[in-house]
Amino acid sequence: MSNRPDAGSAETARRQDRPHTDDGQKGDDNMTPQNLHTHTVFSDGKNTPEEMVLGAVRAGCTSLGFSEHSPLAPFYDPDRYAMEAADLPAYRSEILRLREKYAGQLEVYLGLEQDYDSPAPGPDFDYLIGSVHSVVADGVCLSVDNTRETLVSAVREHFGGDYLALAEAYFQRVGDVAARTGCQIAGHFDLLTKFNEGDCLFDAGAPRYLDAAMGAMEALLRRDVLFEINTGAMSRGCRTSPYPAPSLLRALRERGGRICITSDSHSEGTVAFAFRQAGELALACGFRETWALTETGFQAIGLEKFLEHVS
Ligand SMILES: [Zn+2]
Ligand SMILES: [Zn+2]
Repeated sequence: MSNRPDAGSAETARRQDRPHTDDGQKGDDNMTPQNLHTHTVFSDGKNTPEEMVLGAVRAGCTSLGFSEHSPLAPFYDPDRYAMEAADLPAYRSEILRLREKYAGQLEVYLGLEQDYDSPAPGPDFDYLIGSVHSVVADGVCLSVDNTRETLVSAVREHFGGDYLALAEAYFQRVGDVAARTGCQIAGHFDLLTKFNEGDCLFDAGAPRYLDAAMGAMEALLRRDVLFEINTGAMSRGCRTSPYPAPSLLRALRERGGRICITSDSHSEGTVAFAFRQAGELALACGFRETWALTETGFQAIGLEKFLEHVS
């Protein structure tokens, strides 16, 4: 059976029939909007955790999850974007301090953006976002999202100019990220399109690209993770629409996949950036609900209700 986005899936009906912990329409006002993808000065963010808390309150959030970049060995972190391993205890205690301080005003969750190449995290986190930021070729670690220039030179020097070969290497890792990290959320599924708006670098509709992407999607669906609709590249001026691409979102919906809307925020003014656009995109691609973390686990929020609370 074809694996392309327009092909059906044997598991689709079963997944869509699965009972949810919420009917998706209750729309508890205390849990929307929420951002679970937040960075601070503990890694490559611009603001302190407390400044991000205040930014979330200003944005009308009633909950916020911190997802600092998990520690990486220097080989995998040439851009030094990750948190230092020695800072993990301070990160953990600062987020827990904020949870106490802002109790009743903002629910605070302690998470981690667990990199494909990081050692396993401890058990102390409320949730993990599993992310792939790089591939390894010719013994070199190559970032797919640092700058457009580094992406272009990586493809030229290590993939013979073949972006689809890069995509195959990238999605091979993405498909494995949940098994490897134990994450509940798959981060920015098609991150390698960060600098490819309008297909300016490569054809994201090419069969080889779609086969690689759909293989990864099917692998992640088997792990039943949430897929982010992520607006981070928009707030940083790289894109005018969230990722994943609409064709991939429609394929995800057809296969019974679930989403959560995140901003991948690196500054206090972008905690709920473009959430309306992300919610409208989800609706247009056929989703009826987005998922949020609560004190009793992940719960569905109807997208119509979600859109009432975002600007
Ligand atoms: Zn990331
Ligand atoms: Zn991130």
